[in-house]
Amino acid sequence: MRLLIMGAPGAGKGTQAAKIAEHYGIPAISTGDIFRANVRQQTELGKQVAQILAAGDYVPDELTERIVVDRLDQPDAADGFLLDGFPRTMHQVDALDDYLTERGRQLDAVLVLAAKPEDLIGRLLKRAEIEGREDDTEETIRYRMEVYQRNTKPLLDHYDQAGLLVRVDGLGTTDEVCERIFAALDAAVDGRAAAGNDDRP
Ligand code: ADP
Repeated sequence: MRLLIMGAPGAGKGTQAAKIAEHYGIPAISTGDIFRANVRQQTELGKQVAQILAAGDYVPDELTERIVVDRLDQPDAADGFLLDGFPRTMHQVDALDDYLTERGRQLDAVLVLAAKPEDLIGRLLKRAEIEGREDDTEETIRYRMEVYQRNTKPLLDHYDQAGLLVRVDGLGTTDEVCERIFAALDAAVDGRAAAGNDDRP
């Protein structure tokens, strides 16, 4: 299984990514986690990206793409992976497409954890209150939601045209959403195999 997971802030992406990876026996690869680990360990890469992360900006495409390619070339990702947080730009989309094409591989699905922005804003506000996070005001939460939608729209359109989008309702308990995801992914992949165009290696 070669998967991408996308979802707005608060959609529960991280939690579900871990469950999906375990279920299909594939590594969950989060670019955010990789960058944060490097910052913590003060590696060369970490020093390069620390300020960018602190400012909430995007790490340059070329650098991010190199990190992802190196990670996908590791043996544990040979038969499948779940990418979380990548791609985030059309440049990264193209880089991933090129990488997979060169190796004669294809994505199986792009999973979108869908939820109404209003529901997510409510959820994030409650979480901010419980955790006492003063920076998570309604205004900053709304801004992050807008940024996500603006930046993600062209990516979703691209994968929709490729017939890879699998939308799953992200509202409900963790287990409910998880069951929905497994069912939707299995149906999408089986459906493609039944249609006779599953000639992927
Ligand atoms: P969030 O906290 O919004 O879920 P992540 O944990 O995915 O974000 O990523 C944290 C930070 O790492 C981002 O704000 C960005 O600086 C950097 N980053 C992660 N993935 C990418 C990417 N694909 N392209 C550029 N920068 C990225």
